[in-house]
Amino acid sequence: MAVHAEGEGGAGSAAARRDLAVRAAVEQGLVGGGDGAEPLACLLDVAGIRASAAALTGAFAAALAPGTPVLHAFAVKAAPLVPVLRLLADAGLGCEVASPGELALARAAGVPAGRTVLDSPAKTVAELREALALGIAVNADNPQELERLDALVGRAPTPTTAPIGLRINPQTGAGAIDALSTATATSKFGIALRDPGARAWLVRAYRDRPWLTRLHIHSGSQGVPLALIAEGVRDLHALAEEINAAAGRRQVDTLDIGGGLPVNFASDAETPTHAQYVAALREAVPALFDGSYGLVTEFGRSLLAKHGLILARVEYTKTSGSRPIALTHAGVQLATRTAYAPAAWPVRILPYDAKGAPKTGDPVAQDVAGPACFAGDLLAAARELPRLAPGDLIGVPDTGAYFFTAHYGYNSLPRPAVHGFTVGPEGQVRFRLARPAQDVSAIVAEAGGDHGDALL
Ligand SMILES: *Cc1c(COP(=O)(O)O)cnc(C)c1O
Repeated sequence: MAVHAEGEGGAGSAAARRDLAVRAAVEQGLVGGGDGAEPLACLLDVAGIRASAAALTGAFAAALAPGTPVLHAFAVKAAPLVPVLRLLADAGLGCEVASPGELALARAAGVPAGRTVLDSPAKTVAELREALALGIAVNADNPQELERLDALVGRAPTPTTAPIGLRINPQTGAGAIDALSTATATSKFGIALRDPGARAWLVRAYRDRPWLTRLHIHSGSQGVPLALIAEGVRDLHALAEEINAAAGRRQVDTLDIGGGLPVNFASDAETPTHAQYVAALREAVPALFDGSYGLVTEFGRSLLAKHGLILARVEYTKTSGSRPIALTHAGVQLATRTAYAPAAWPVRILPYDAKGAPKTGDPVAQDVAGPACFAGDLLAAARELPRLAPGDLIGVPDTGAYFFTAHYGYNSLPRPAVHGFTVGPEGQVRFRLARPAQDVSAIVAEAGGDHGDALL
């Protein structure tokens, strides 16, 4: 298996850019095999992110009736970094947020309220009030939240400009990963559309509230097949038509169809594509594109995953039970799901030598372990790779979403630096710091360092 750039595309390919960036990261001292060098760094391919954003917007623009309003709101939880949000905003995207922290990041990135969508199943009254005051779109999750909105919308001094909708669970079923399947019969999200009486309740809820103008769905993430996502969107569209027929006007004017396009973790191929997703939607719900509804999307993983790389030094190697093991600096703190659910979240391991050149050699089955103190802290088990040695580097591709941007503080391991990179026409690599590494004093402060006597 060719694990490196050879044979996987021309010099302009993502894999070629990645190998150039790894070499440059070592040469420029961002990470290294030697003593005193940084043991860990994370890279983001700026051109790749821009290409994915353009592919998303282009796929919908090509299918939608001209002039249809559309907002592609990036799901901030996938990569909650202000420079990433600003890059995506520059590419025409907005933000989907689901906590006060995510909202603050979107605002820090300069994303306007009118391009921000607030989801989350547990919004407080204060969060709802703030969103309405700012004019941020709100998708309510449940009838009790709707009652809170009744009080807030009714009592507001001026009518809110915030578009408000309800999240529906189409109950279309699970994908391959239960923990990421939001459209099961008993999912915690949204209003269960197929429960007895639900449809009639929804039609009434909209009839009684002229300010409810949106419907929202998000059928799940990695592991949910496109056809299942499309089926949920079809149900959402049918419900909107039913509500509008009962209302005698086009009360629901916008459908928020969520995100959830899965990502290929097995190779550099970007599949399925945003265009394939649009094609699946066109087949299942052709009327979605006829311009009678504005659209909101909320993609996360499919925009960022392929463009992130973890680079970590191999600190030691050993054998145990005759199995070779490489002890590296990348583990559960960066690849949390891989460590706890390895079958659902396999990652590729790309071997590099201490100079950052692709490492070759006869494949040997070896474990690639992280630095944390528990036995499950493995990135890969019995993986066939050239035999790793201390000072080598491993690259973990496809980690731009939900990996190093969703740090897990086990063992007080620090958040590593994140560097964006661009590659010039001559292959010269320019890095920009997007997030500094967390230093030890920040870890102490977060751990109550200023409250040391509190429990005496
Ligand atoms: C997580 C989430 C998304 C993004 O999902 P991806 O699989 O990253 O595209 C979109 N909408 C909602 C409501 C979410 O919870």
